[in-house]
Amino acid sequence: MSLAFQPRSFLRPRTKEELSKHLKEFGEAAKIIAGGTGIYEIAHRGLLSDVEALIDISGLNLSYVKLEDDSLRIGAATTMSTLFASKDLTRSKALGGIIDALKAIQPLQVKNVATVGGSICTALPFFDLPVALLSLGARVRMGPGGTAKTLSDFIKGYFSVDLERGEFVEEVEIPIGKKNIASAFQKFALTHDDWALINCGVSVSLDENMQIMDSVIIFGGGVPEKPVRAKSVEQSLLGLRADDESKIKQAFEGEVSKDLEPISDIRSSAEYRGRLAKIIGRRTCVQAISRV
Ligand SMILES: Cc1cc2nc3c(=O)[nH]c(=O)nc-3n(C[C@H](O)[C@H](O)[C@H](O)COP(=O)(O)OP(=O)(O)OC[C@H]3O[C@@H](n4cnc5c(N)ncnc54)[C@H](O)[C@@H]3O)c2cc1C
Repeated sequence: MSLAFQPRSFLRPRTKEELSKHLKEFGEAAKIIAGGTGIYEIAHRGLLSDVEALIDISGLNLSYVKLEDDSLRIGAATTMSTLFASKDLTRSKALGGIIDALKAIQPLQVKNVATVGGSICTALPFFDLPVALLSLGARVRMGPGGTAKTLSDFIKGYFSVDLERGEFVEEVEIPIGKKNIASAFQKFALTHDDWALINCGVSVSLDENMQIMDSVIIFGGGVPEKPVRAKSVEQSLLGLRADDESKIKQAFEGEVSKDLEPISDIRSSAEYRGRLAKIIGRRTCVQAISRV
């Protein structure tokens, strides 16, 4: 870890109020630590040289998965492995994309400690779980007051989220009340445990005639700043028959480039990512439809 990162205090609050008090007191000079796998990444880039205090949230009872009639509530400190092991994930076909994303995240050692809250608060566009969560319209509940906002509004860009001084993420909530909705997530990477060149989360709902009534399509991976919603593709899918794969293919082929401006980097050119997005998007969409 970078030598520039030398926090002087390690705090372990026992209540959410105590956590908020520390966050208010230290402001930018404090960082919450959950699984610590993202902190490592941020510190390595020399971005934590001003941090004086690390605040461990493991003593706050923020590790839980609760299924309610119309939502799944996940405590911010729930590890990916704990979430993956939860039977509640299999109780709604809306949540298929979350299971896919958790399978795609590697290695297992990271999933055993990395938390859901840490995954969204690191706010990197190439992470997998946030893309699946965004496709399901997930909301973020902040502590200690309990105000909520959409994950889409919460993530502002690279390493940047919408938290006021003294606030922290308490819970992530996934709405599952809609009828005939299912989701899927797919990732394309150069190796099994590399970052996604392109990843995609899709949630789709069908009407009684098996036509596409609604969809949310999110692309992440090699995209600038934050995951992107493919609204032109969504628009052109409306009303298509769910089994008309050639029309679905046309929608992705024709519209993806209007929604997405991928980046070029050492892993891939923007052009290649653009072509991949059409294929991965279509496959993810067809998979989600097959689960409705
Ligand atoms: C070797 C390796 C492989 C990886 N592979 C993948 C992969 O295949 N796919 C993928 O998507 N990701 C992958 N990751 C990234 C991993 O998902 C993230 O590092 C992880 O989700 C961060 O969670 P954490 O609990 O470790 O966060 P931490 O490191 O503890 O924190 C990360 C950031 O979130 C903040 N934070 C944490 N919890 C809260 C909270 N409750 N409220 C406010 N702020 C908070 C911290 O202050 C910090 O800024 C990998 C990471 C590593 C190290």
